[in-house]
Amino acid sequence: MLENSTIILGGGLAGLAASVYSEAPIFEAEDHIGGVAASDTVDGFTFDRGIHILQTQNTSVINLLNDIGVDMLTHDRHAYIYSHETYTAYPFQVNTAGLPIGLRIKCLWDFINRGREQDPANYEEWMYRTIGKGFSETFLIPYSEKFWMVNPKEMTFEWTGNRVPKPNLLQVFRGALWSKQTKIGTNPTFRYPVAAAGYGAIAEAMQTKAGTINLQYRAERIDLRNKVVHFTNGEQVKYDTLISTIPLPELIRICPEAPDSIRAAASHLRTNSIKVVNLGIDRPNISPNHWVHFPEKDISFFRLSYPHNFSENVTPPGMSSISAEVSYSRSNPPDNEQLLQKVIKDLIKVKALEADAPVATTMVKDIPYAYCIYDKQRKSSIKVIHDWLSSVNVIPSGRYGLWTYFWSDEAILSGKRSAEKLLETRKAA
Ligand SMILES: Cc1cc2nc3c(=O)[nH]c(=O)nc-3n(C[C@H](O)[C@H](O)[C@H](O)COP(=O)(O)OP(=O)(O)OC[C@H]3O[C@@H](n4cnc5c(N)ncnc54)[C@H](O)[C@@H]3O)c2cc1C
Repeated sequence: MLENSTIILGGGLAGLAASVYSEAPIFEAEDHIGGVAASDTVDGFTFDRGIHILQTQNTSVINLLNDIGVDMLTHDRHAYIYSHETYTAYPFQVNTAGLPIGLRIKCLWDFINRGREQDPANYEEWMYRTIGKGFSETFLIPYSEKFWMVNPKEMTFEWTGNRVPKPNLLQVFRGALWSKQTKIGTNPTFRYPVAAAGYGAIAEAMQTKAGTINLQYRAERIDLRNKVVHFTNGEQVKYDTLISTIPLPELIRICPEAPDSIRAAASHLRTNSIKVVNLGIDRPNISPNHWVHFPEKDISFFRLSYPHNFSENVTPPGMSSISAEVSYSRSNPPDNEQLLQKVIKDLIKVKALEADAPVATTMVKDIPYAYCIYDKQRKSSIKVIHDWLSSVNVIPSGRYGLWTYFWSDEAILSGKRSAEKLLETRKAA
């Protein structure tokens, strides 16, 4: 049996960062590192696991990336929304100019008259209060239902922060008349790796500074009393402190000693799931866009992105690529082949793909844990679970260990904080 003072479960960005700052070994279930920020290559095309861009201002993350030598390019965002058979620039709130006049007037009028409702009690009420009924009902509510797979009335809004752009009246007014003003929101410019490895280049570079990485080590049982992790490959590893970045519900499932109250709390944690339908196209520059949002229900995907516009190295020369993201609920996963055919049909319908375009390759990637849902039970359930984990010397970390809406830079910082916590505890002991 291997023995370590600290081990890290999961080799995504949080696990990698925890290892970079503590030198503890990583045990990762898959045959490569990166987690949801990894990329997959097929027939010379590299696809991320859903669109990934870096929009960090955090100096410690920027310094780390410089240190490990990730070569990145800065891009000016070209993002759109497809609604009422029209492509309008993102964000919708300041770019309604191409839409039917009645809709523009409604969005503007409701924006002016917003904020008269009582304090919002849920995400839908928050939308009405923040951007008005017109924008909410035309874009954000249908988009949210399609993306989160949950009625926004069931959600809280504590996660919104700067994730939903909040324009002023002048920007909305100008956008309804003529402007293509798109410089609001968190990512008017963003960075993306130059390498053929796509966004996965970040994890690959972090790997060089991390401790030992053990791949194809899927934890299947944690014996908390004896502090031993059992893996599906038959190996067992003894630890003193465990940093876990695996999804909280999975972690609790593999701890037989977890009391019923903890299992009950874990059963309340909800997530959406996403299938990413990727197509390599044997045609150059099929679109100048980075990404497009699709709020309308008759289109299968909620978002399209064009990897060839993020880096010229992620497709073979002279070719293009498309990634279509489709949310689904885990109780009803779509069949990959049927989904692929539906996505191709919809791509042609929205004029994102010509009917005779030569498809060079296809790949469907499943992300069972995609975005953690902020509903009314999330906060109290997490508190109960985290308190218990602390009592058994397990440090939860990362997007799915903390069950939160972290961007990749926040996942890195979370791993770093876990390493710091560990080092402080060791110093105090
Ligand atoms: C669709 C999508 C789009 C996104 N877009 C962006 C974006 O544009 N910009 C941005 O900054 N961020 C984006 N993010 C967020 C970013 O990807 C995450 O914050 C970050 O990658 C999370 O890293 P993590 O290490 O916390 O989790 P993960 O990447 O999930 O890492 C957890 C690891 O644990 C492993 N694991 C699971 N179970 C076990 C087990 N039993 N034993 C051992 N290992 C196990 C998994 O294989 C995985 O490698 C996006 C996320 C998604 C889902």
